[in-house]
Amino acid sequence: MKKNLILFLLLSVYTQAVPQRNIINVPDIPGYRTMVCDFHQHTVFSDGTVWPTVRVDEAIREGLDAIAITDHLEYRPHESDMAADRNRSWQIAKEYAADRGLIVIAGTEITKEMPPGHFNALFIHDAEHILNKDFRQALKTAADQGAFIMWNHPGWKVQQPDSTVWWDEHTYIFNQGWMHGIEVINGPEVSPEAISWANEKSLAMIGNTDQHGPFMFEEFDPDDHRTSTLVFVAEKSEGGIREALFNGRTACWYKHGVIGKAPVIRALFLASVTIRPLDAENGRYLFYNPTDLDLRITLSNTVYEDWSKELKLSPGSKTSFKIPPGASVEQIGVRVNNMFSGVDKPLEVPLSMIQPVHQ
Ligand SMILES: [Zn+2]
Ligand SMILES: [Zn+2]
Repeated sequence: MKKNLILFLLLSVYTQAVPQRNIINVPDIPGYRTMVCDFHQHTVFSDGTVWPTVRVDEAIREGLDAIAITDHLEYRPHESDMAADRNRSWQIAKEYAADRGLIVIAGTEITKEMPPGHFNALFIHDAEHILNKDFRQALKTAADQGAFIMWNHPGWKVQQPDSTVWWDEHTYIFNQGWMHGIEVINGPEVSPEAISWANEKSLAMIGNTDQHGPFMFEEFDPDDHRTSTLVFVAEKSEGGIREALFNGRTACWYKHGVIGKAPVIRALFLASVTIRPLDAENGRYLFYNPTDLDLRITLSNTVYEDWSKELKLSPGSKTSFKIPPGASVEQIGVRVNNMFSGVDKPLEVPLSMIQPVHQ
């Protein structure tokens, strides 16, 4: 009896200590594996309120593949309590994550007034060395360390209260080759300007949480997930993520859908949904979406019987639809109402491109 009690207590401690890993079901796309990442989070080492290991446990519990710890270089309100240097938070997280199947990327947030605002530098070697009053020197040093650099929350009202402006300083930074990505989504906030700039200037589209407190206080509903960046990698490793970021193979996954470059989101949609004829003679078909992507579509051609009705392809759902007798699948287009490649630019694909499954 006593033995059982001890065993029970040991097991309880064990299950508390190791967070259960949620499995995120987002498909790979042709030629690439898909990784779910959050590249912007804070700890007590800047203005966050959690120890770095908490960020690792949270990410494992939520099923992420990689995170970056990006404490502010210049803003450290707990500095008198946290005397360590500016590399310490990601070192702690990285060591803790080493045998837990989570990649932790060394990062920092270069924190300047607008212009040019805040920038995350990822894959850095030494944050202390990047610290510099002059944003030019800071960004140059980060770039010299081989960093992938993104402009964070360009539309943050504290810094851009009236309109989201691309300043001359951003042109300078971009022309120097010191800006490779842009935060299209920061937490729940989508920046339409950032989406347009990403398309115009071939910047990687990034979606992050910019989390400061513990995720336990977030009011996620059970079907929701954190804002994250889907990265399409040739190899599932830190180097694979870096290569994919520099080549812009990303999409942003947030509460209301997915935002990314047109070829990427098209491939993602086509890898997510299949179509099955139920009774082809009478025009009855079935969509199957086995993924965690909550997709909403409209069949965009009037030959579809009730063409104005939005179809919900919820995660794991099978959704039937009917086209009138005589109409062919080839005539019908699909508009995905919550996958965007640009502002007011939902993804459109011909229905005939969706992979048919005959069984
Ligand atoms: Zn910031
Ligand atoms: Zn931040």
